[in-house]
Amino acid sequence: MGINLLEIFWIKTLTFTFNEVLFNIKSMSVFNLNEQNTNLDKKIVAGLERISQVFKILLWEKSKKLSLSPIQIQILIFINYHAKSQATVSYLAREFDVSKPTISDTIKTLEQKKYIHKIMDNVDARSYSIELTDLGKTIVSDTENFINPLTEIISKSTIDDKIVLWKNISGMISQLNKMKIITIQRTCYNCKYFSSQNNKSFCGLLQQELKDEDIRIDCGEFIQM
Ligand code: SF4
Repeated sequence: MGINLLEIFWIKTLTFTFNEVLFNIKSMSVFNLNEQNTNLDKKIVAGLERISQVFKILLWEKSKKLSLSPIQIQILIFINYHAKSQATVSYLAREFDVSKPTISDTIKTLEQKKYIHKIMDNVDARSYSIELTDLGKTIVSDTENFINPLTEIISKSTIDDKIVLWKNISGMISQLNKMKIITIQRTCYNCKYFSSQNNKSFCGLLQQELKDEDIRIDCGEFIQM
């Protein structure tokens, strides 16, 4: 059975539409260099992607030297600076967006290396929180400087540039959290003490106005709204 003219017309139309959609999808990609280099939005996203690679590279370099995995280093640093209530398997799994078994395995290894010890829960015998040993604290002070190259670059910017950068970063994090891409956020924007009126932000706990540079993304006093 042959193809009639109408069928040829539809095949051509659909093929053309499909190719056009494919072209548009390709041309919308941040990774398409023609698109990226002529579109500032996409150039910024590509730049952020490049910076995220830097964090991974710096952390990997440090972890190789100390025979620790990146997640092991991140957990040790996190525990050192956060409350005991946040040093649990469930909380760490949500914080680092990994499964509970992954966190449990990491904790087991860190315990074997004598960097942490468990504090069993008096009420629930299956639950525990984690505390650093003195050796664990030494590892933290040896590793937490992995981020220094970026700190040095930012320290050279003007205060006005830093405030603009911070305003954009904190706003972006807040939006990513609303989109449920970033899960746990201890930021002012999600805090029950935060209020905003006439474009001015305020912390009810500290009883002070929060300027752009005062907005926190990880506050020890944070309470979920
Ligand atoms: S308690 Fe902390 S997170 Fe909450 S509004 Fe005040 S400064 Fe921000």
